Amino acid sequence: MAKHRKTGAYEHFCVLIFAQGTWKETDKDSVRNLIKEKLKSLKEAPYNIFYKLTYRDKMPIHADCHICQPIYKMFEEFKGNNDGILYLGHHYLIPEDDFEDMKSLTNLILSHNKVKKFYLLYLDGFKEIKRTILNEMNLEEFKEKLKFKKCNSNDFILIIDNDKFKNRTVYEISKRRGPSNIYHSQ
Ligand SMILES: [Zn+2]
Repeated sequence: MAKHRKTGAYEHFCVLIFAQGTWKETDKDSVRNLIKEKLKSLKEAPYNIFYKLTYRDKMPIHADCHICQPIYKMFEEFKGNNDGILYLGHHYLIPEDDFEDMKSLTNLILSHNKVKKFYLLYLDGFKEIKRTILNEMNLEEFKEKLKFKKCNSNDFILIIDNDKFKNRTVYEISKRRGPSNIYHSQ
C-alpha cells in the first residue's frame, strides 16, 4: 500500500456482527471461533477474506489514517447498547478471489443462532479525495460519502452473483425469513 499520497486513504474491510438478544462472554467467543476455525481450514489461501477480518475492541489509532476512526464510530453508533463483534482493518478485496468467499462468510455468520444480522463495508480508499479533506471530515460528513442498503442473505448473495456488489456501501444483512430460521427468530 502506497504511503505519502496526497489523496485517498487505505482500503478498509469492515464487518460488524450484531447479536441476537444479550450475549454471554461464551456466546461472543463461540461466534468468533466460527471465523477462527474457518481460517484454520483455509491454509492454502493465506490472504483470504476470513484473514481480512481484523478484530477490534477499541478505537484503532493509526497516525497516517484518518478514516479508521469515523468508521469505528459509525459502527459503534449502529451497535448502540447491543452486543456484537467488530472487525475492521486495512485490507483490500480481490473480487475474483474474495467474492465467492464472501458468500460463505455470509452463510457462516448468519448460521449462528445468537447472531441477528451483520453489517459489511468495503471502502476502496477515497482516492479522489484530498487527504487534508479526509482528515477533517466529521462522522456525519463521512457518512454522506457512503450508501446504505438493507437486504437479507439471499438478496446479498444475488448482489454478489450479479456483480452488483459496491464498495462504499454499508450492507446490513439479515437472516432470510423462512422455515430454516423460524426456531431462531426470537
Ligand atoms: Zn484506516
